[in-house]
Amino acid sequence: MNWKGHTILGIIFGLPFISSPEQIFLVLAGALYPDLDHDVKEDIVKRGLLISGGIVFINILLYFFDKKLFNIELFILGVSVFLIYLIPYFSEHRGLTHTFWSLIFVSSILGYLSYKLSFISSVFAGLISLLMVTNEALLGRIMMYAIFAWAVLDILNLKLGVSGLYHYILPVAFGYLSHIFGDTMTPAGVRAFYPVSNYKMKKKEGYLILILWILAVLYFWRGMILSII
Ligand SMILES: [Zn+2]
Repeated sequence: MNWKGHTILGIIFGLPFISSPEQIFLVLAGALYPDLDHDVKEDIVKRGLLISGGIVFINILLYFFDKKLFNIELFILGVSVFLIYLIPYFSEHRGLTHTFWSLIFVSSILGYLSYKLSFISSVFAGLISLLMVTNEALLGRIMMYAIFAWAVLDILNLKLGVSGLYHYILPVAFGYLSHIFGDTMTPAGVRAFYPVSNYKMKKKEGYLILILWILAVLYFWRGMILSII
């Protein structure tokens, strides 16, 4: 599946888990991250390794030369973001980035990073997440979809009622899930439990993901559904 398919599917999967329009950037970051293992995305991965590696390196220097300025939280975050890029750097196409383990790890780290950045601005936080997984050309292409989705969300004015850290983790996670779902629908399938299991998930398992997604939507919106009934 190409970037366009994953973008549209990401918006559909993420829409019910969004409370404010700028979270669409988080959904798209989750939906586009797995394909960073593609050779054509090497520039994005290398840029990410360089920036996060730089943050880690500066923190190590501070630890040895000026401990007062050393920030353990920033250090752990830098190492985690470095790992986010290291996975696609070494992974073969549809390898580790297309697994549920990666979904949990990446959405937790990206969600946490956005949560921290949201103290500056939540729009800025979402935008940074999206910039982390795109280059100039890709960003330009998907922006059209992002802005359209933003407008739809503004009209719908949904209020999921999820706050704090989960406000940032959930959109990335469901965007990510949409990517795994999308790839199960292709003939090549996805080994989503690799390396624990090499079982290739295809259409049949894809429908199972779809059912789980529907159940998640019903669970998160149970209050609203019950009030209508
Ligand atoms: Zn993929």
